[in-house]
Amino acid sequence: MKILVTNDDGVHAEGLMVLKTALDKVAEVFVVAPDRPRSACGHSITLHKPLRAERVVLKDGSHAYASNGTPSDCVSLGLLGIIDDPVDLVVSGINHGPNLGWDLTYSGTVSAAMEGAIIGVSSIAISVASLASGIDYSVAAHFAVDLATLLNEHKLPESTLLNVNVPPLAASEIKGVKIARQGKRRYTGQLEKRTDPMGRDYYWLGGDPPTDVFEEGTDVNAVADDYISITPVHLDLTDYASIDSVRGWGIEKIAIC
Ligand code: MN
Repeated sequence: MKILVTNDDGVHAEGLMVLKTALDKVAEVFVVAPDRPRSACGHSITLHKPLRAERVVLKDGSHAYASNGTPSDCVSLGLLGIIDDPVDLVVSGINHGPNLGWDLTYSGTVSAAMEGAIIGVSSIAISVASLASGIDYSVAAHFAVDLATLLNEHKLPESTLLNVNVPPLAASEIKGVKIARQGKRRYTGQLEKRTDPMGRDYYWLGGDPPTDVFEEGTDVNAVADDYISITPVHLDLTDYASIDSVRGWGIEKIAIC
């Protein structure tokens, strides 16, 4: 099995190292990852400047590629250029922080897995759902190995990836695994206006931490209940339930002039 590992926390992030070390036992692992933290970059790609991929040495002495591009760029670089052999699986992570609910909209980690799915390679995103410092990635790494082995036997449907969130707990404290739908995490969207030393206004996006919406069957609930959540995510963002009602507004009858 050949696995491309990437992330959005940067090539030297601990979560990537722990993941790579675990996957080394079952696969040939290639690392192509951003040369700097790229969290919350979404699915942006680099079209208007050169993409670089420099060989770097990781903490375990192995070689990796560090790119000035985004996580999605790294997947393209790996699958379409740098790695000669066919890749069986893309694993993005292990992210430092949750990728639950609406986090997926912003996530570089999940977007990298989406890029893998677009290119037609089975892909998973994996995160430890805590932003605390010094978190332990070993449980998530062990789980990633077993999931990678399963995905070697069971093909994911076309255009579908798996988004995995692991609670920041010891293995003995995790209650199990739940296949869950994407829930909701609401960012309050606060904008703080400040003044720089030159007297000019600037803005800081952020404010309060996101609010979890607790609904049965969601990734948000599963992780809150100390389960690992796995959400199959499809690239098709169509809201099928709304097609008929929106059509009923007469939009298709608007005269084009
Ligand atoms: Mn990140």
